[in-house]
Amino acid sequence: MPARVSLKSLKRKGGLFDGVKSNIHALAIGVKYFINPQRLTLLYPKEYIEHRPNYRGFIVFIKDKCISCASCARICPSAAMKMVRVSEIDPKHPDKPKMKQYPVINYQRCIFCGFCVDICPTEALYHTPFQDIVYESLADMFLTLNTFQEEPQRPVIREGLPTTYEFDEERGLVKRVKSSGP
Ligand code: SF4
Ligand code: SF4
Repeated sequence: MPARVSLKSLKRKGGLFDGVKSNIHALAIGVKYFINPQRLTLLYPKEYIEHRPNYRGFIVFIKDKCISCASCARICPSAAMKMVRVSEIDPKHPDKPKMKQYPVINYQRCIFCGFCVDICPTEALYHTPFQDIVYESLADMFLTLNTFQEEPQRPVIREGLPTTYEFDEERGLVKRVKSSGP
């Protein structure tokens, strides 16, 4: 014999009056934000988020500071950073080129954890405070030793207004748009 299914109805909280009151409250919130909009939506690229200086954004490499220890590539949890070997001429011994190794990054894999920047003993890597770079192809996301040393171009800075989000005790999260770019 099939089991009998018993349907229990949940007790309604409050009556009709409470339902109408909740709907009026919801409508009042809608009217309030229609009259006095406090919109949070970022109008990108007319506005862009201005991150704080210690934000973990795109990474730039300073070759002159690098001692080729490979700590950055070893600690990378997503295998985004790899060492490449290059031949360099020592001015003292121009006839004997030396093999050296330097890091390069693959932004298809990077999760912006910042481990590589933190572990570098000579501060040869640093974060930029932005992450909104568009690459035209996947191959472009694999930086070379040269492109890894250039700070990426960020066109939105020329076109948009810097914007921050701040917490206000009364209004909650508030968007603040600055009047002009840096
Ligand atoms: S930020 Fe993290 S994931 Fe990206 S290259 Fe550095 S260690 Fe690897
Ligand atoms: S951790 Fe720093 S010094 Fe060592 S290889 Fe990486 S960038 Fe160069």
